[in-house]
Amino acid sequence: MRLNLGSKNFKQDIAKLLDMVEGRALFHSKNSLPTPLHLIVQERSANIRFVPLPVPGCLCSVSKGFDIFVQTHAKDSQNLLEKFLNGKDSQLPVRHRFTIAHEIAHTYFYDLSKQPPSMQFPPNTAKELRRMEEACDAIANRMLLPRFILEEHVKKHDCLDPNLLRELANKAAVSPQVVISAFGGSAKCLPHKGGIACALHDGESYRLTSFSLGGLLKDRFDLIKGQRLSEWIKPSDFVANGGRKSEVIFRRTGKNDPKTIYSFKARFERVPVPAAKVNYFVTVSELEAGQPDLLRSSDDQGVD
Ligand SMILES: [Zn+2]
Repeated sequence: MRLNLGSKNFKQDIAKLLDMVEGRALFHSKNSLPTPLHLIVQERSANIRFVPLPVPGCLCSVSKGFDIFVQTHAKDSQNLLEKFLNGKDSQLPVRHRFTIAHEIAHTYFYDLSKQPPSMQFPPNTAKELRRMEEACDAIANRMLLPRFILEEHVKKHDCLDPNLLRELANKAAVSPQVVISAFGGSAKCLPHKGGIACALHDGESYRLTSFSLGGLLKDRFDLIKGQRLSEWIKPSDFVANGGRKSEVIFRRTGKNDPKTIYSFKARFERVPVPAAKVNYFVTVSELEAGQPDLLRSSDDQGVD
């Protein structure tokens, strides 16, 4: 496939490429998780090197393929490389797995029949460069958590159970953000009335780092990355707000409709003590109007 960043058909070309990459990931994983990145790296004629770098990763074309450089401390590089070469890439930190998948994604922009491989259509503008980076993130996501796997998960499990989302992330050896992007990229998987997000504890409170909302919830909430979780889900007895309940009902007016009050169920994953730099899953679903919870006066605290 010749990917031209300036082409009108770029979106369609990337959609085809995403399907192809998913096919390769499923072939190597035998339709399971995690995706064995070392096999895809081999298939793309690439070598991995873990080195100190000013960026998370980069790709260089060399005579027989590619070198993929992944940022790490010098003291860890040998250990990480051994894990990778022994086929244990699922034990690498999730950020390294994402970086490797992202750099593999860049190789699809190269013509491998040339030695060294070269880009037939290198990015010419900042916009094209951004396009390529976004496409590589999407490819990495699809490689690490194929849509087929996500659809199977959704068929068998409650996809708004935050503890099961954690299990899925662990099985795929990916960060919660990858799970959330995968749901965001697959209209079939996220319920219309549901949303999933992740939040990071900054030492004081939880802040939203990433979210995907179903169609209906997009109409209900305006969320921004970085905002406090308590601005969205207000009850103080919610575990993420310092309370003891990992599941609460809260009520809010619609964003374009200040007269109507809607009820939602929020769930947070089991977190004994929040660890620094760890994203935790939170899910929200809208409840049917007229459910008994609507009538409980103690829930009024959540109304805007
Ligand atoms: Zn990149």
